[in-house]
Amino acid sequence: AKEAGRNQLFFFDPLLQAETIERALLVRDLRQALEQDELVLFYQPIVDAQQHIRAVEALLRWFHPKHGMVLPGKFIPLAERNGLIVPIGKWVLETACAQLAEWQQDPEREALVIAVNISARQLSKTNFVDTVKSVLAQTGARADRLMLEITESIFQDNVNSTITKMDALRQEGVRFSLDDFGTGYSSLTYLKRLPIDHLKIDKSFVDDIFEDSSDIAIVHTIIALAKNLEIDIIAEGVETCEQMEWLQGNGCKFFQGYLFSHPLHPDKLNAILENTTLL
Ligand code: C2E
Ligand code: CA
Ligand code: CA
Ligand code: CA
Repeated sequence: AKEAGRNQLFFFDPLLQAETIERALLVRDLRQALEQDELVLFYQPIVDAQQHIRAVEALLRWFHPKHGMVLPGKFIPLAERNGLIVPIGKWVLETACAQLAEWQQDPEREALVIAVNISARQLSKTNFVDTVKSVLAQTGARADRLMLEITESIFQDNVNSTITKMDALRQEGVRFSLDDFGTGYSSLTYLKRLPIDHLKIDKSFVDDIFEDSSDIAIVHTIIALAKNLEIDIIAEGVETCEQMEWLQGNGCKFFQGYLFSHPLHPDKLNAILENTTLL
């Protein structure tokens, strides 16, 4: 009787059921989102110490016909679970590279870099290198303007084959940064072997640099480590001048966060770039 009671409770839990249904519906809609042009790639500026825009990070937005704008935190994990991240990720690459190709026509914008988030599931595909190469070839984007952001979750896969792929793309000129650094499955040994150009310090550390002394110690360690490996640091989630000054004073070269700009619709970004002298 106890068993049955528990099962019943599970089966009829209205909250749980609503959540499961909502998720299932979202997955169904996500399958159509690509075909129906509901995905838009926003861009958030990454600036240097002079606050000049040096790069932008491509961040997905889904304009759902009923729910309005859906943030990636809500649908990327679903897409990763069911494999939809692979076609979605390809669309992201194509869209970002098409934007790069457009900027390359303009000597003022030509140096801008686009950083694209790559999930471990995409990188683990055997044809990942060919996919990136063919998108670059088809759009005409310069490989050295493309930066791929990977996370420590790639360490859960076959590290050697990952490094081989990264090396192959790096030969083409593509650059890599390690995202959310310090939050995941860190391995300093791997870090040394990975062909990366930038480390992104996670927002959670930036948030706490004036509050949490253990986080200050971690940030100092990350900066020292990066210097040692000759890797530049990007601080993400910078929201205040005080954070920016502290980070700059302690050796960070690049900054990203609401202090400078929210992620922008491409039209808005391009309007801002029209009125800004770069570099
Ligand atoms: P992420 O790669 O760590 O991206 C940074 C996130 O921090 C973005 O959230 C950005 O909007 C937010 N952010 C930037 N500056 C600030 C700030 O000053 N304050 C606060 N509170 N937040 C800030 P977003 O756009 O919601 O993206 C969430 C995550 O979704 C990303 O985290 C990334 O892991 C994933 N994602 C987004 N686009 C893509 C994509 O095209 N492909 C893949 N695989 N993942 C993506
Ligand atoms: Ca990122
Ligand atoms: Ca990040
Ligand atoms: Ca903390």
